[in-house]
Amino acid sequence: MKFTDLNPHGGIGANCSFCEVDGFRFAIDSGLHPKFAGAESLPDHSLIERNSLDFIILTHCHLDHLGTLPLLSREHPDAPVFLSYGSSVISRRMLSNSISVMRRQRSELNLPELPLYGRGDLSSLYSRMKPLSTDEPLTLEKDGRSIEVTLHHAGHVAGAVSVTIRSEKQRVFFTGDILFNDQRTLNGARPPLAEVDVLVTETTRGHTSRDPNCQREAEIVNLLEATRKTLANGGSVLLPIFALGRMQEMLLILDEAFRRKAIPSVPVFCSGLGMDLVNHFHEISRNSNDLRFNRKVLKSVGARPLPRKLIPGRDLPMQGIYLVSSGMMVENTPSYVLATSMLGKDRNSILFVGYCDPSTPGGKLLETQPDEPFEFKEIDWVEPVRAKIHQFDLSGHADREELVALAKKLSPKTIILHHGDPESRDWFSSTLSPLGAKIIDPEPLVTYET
Ligand SMILES: [Zn+2]
Ligand SMILES: [Zn+2]
Repeated sequence: MKFTDLNPHGGIGANCSFCEVDGFRFAIDSGLHPKFAGAESLPDHSLIERNSLDFIILTHCHLDHLGTLPLLSREHPDAPVFLSYGSSVISRRMLSNSISVMRRQRSELNLPELPLYGRGDLSSLYSRMKPLSTDEPLTLEKDGRSIEVTLHHAGHVAGAVSVTIRSEKQRVFFTGDILFNDQRTLNGARPPLAEVDVLVTETTRGHTSRDPNCQREAEIVNLLEATRKTLANGGSVLLPIFALGRMQEMLLILDEAFRRKAIPSVPVFCSGLGMDLVNHFHEISRNSNDLRFNRKVLKSVGARPLPRKLIPGRDLPMQGIYLVSSGMMVENTPSYVLATSMLGKDRNSILFVGYCDPSTPGGKLLETQPDEPFEFKEIDWVEPVRAKIHQFDLSGHADREELVALAKKLSPKTIILHHGDPESRDWFSSTLSPLGAKIIDPEPLVTYET
């Protein structure tokens, strides 16, 4: 197998892997780097000769995996795009939102190359999409050789899959972004446990050990308690959150908490994309045993759309829970602008429910001490940190120990580290080395053969 990581910045970002197994050439995912905009946010597709891919696989619809798929597919018009049924539904909403965001960035950030693609590219991409059922191998033939592609339910987010590629010579397993725990909406991953030659594993949480007292359910209890206290004191709660997956999960958790009267009944404000995705989740769950979701939850929590135009520092429309993207409070997103209104008042709370990269505003806010000033650079605004700031570990990614246990079960000859910061990959390198497999921590844009 040949493997090239096309994400030029390394770590987690514009995820895109270019692979060759027994003469079959394929790419897995083609994302957009969340911390950059325009040309800097792209994977380097130039290393793949035009129209040379036999197929493309999309593991799931987070934009760091999906955001440049229309570009890659445009360069390889004959390559079918294999994905789950769930991703075939969700990708449409995510990509059309992505065009709107790029249109806005074009003038805001003065990037004339935006948008990177248009509606026509999306229609062409949709015509190349071939949804596959999980656990059902698809056989492809070329030059008298054959290869099998199988998708497996990966937890993580609705529609997410892991991938097995089996040629006559090699069996390769890609975890993709994977979560073994069941969530309220979604069953945990079901990877196959057959031995493999090559394992390509995500390493997101390599740098994070889980406190045994902070299992997922305990973290949900802690999060609800922090929410209850804030609301009881007359404050509002900002939950910066991914619009895809985490927001729908949180709607169910809040609905349950309202019913049990574990938190006072207040309005819940959601961003438009998250509310639209609720309808897609509803539709997918009717055709899936792994996703449980009913759009009635919006009504039952009394969800309301955010006001269209958010003005920095302006008082909130009313006391409530603000369930809005982005999860890392990235510049100019609703969570970023709302934080200007909430941060300076000690009755409010800003509660993070996932990982925040240290270089993002969310990561920086978590590092800022109470009463210190916090600068919203992008909009030239400063507020003292008076609101309570907490982070809860509700990650959508497997704990590192679980991934090590999986690697042991699959007993690969080669392990390729993927989707993780350098420190995380280092932890996996040293922890996995006693297994005796060859471990590759690929440099971006370098081809490895194994
Ligand atoms: Zn993801
Ligand atoms: Zn990811």
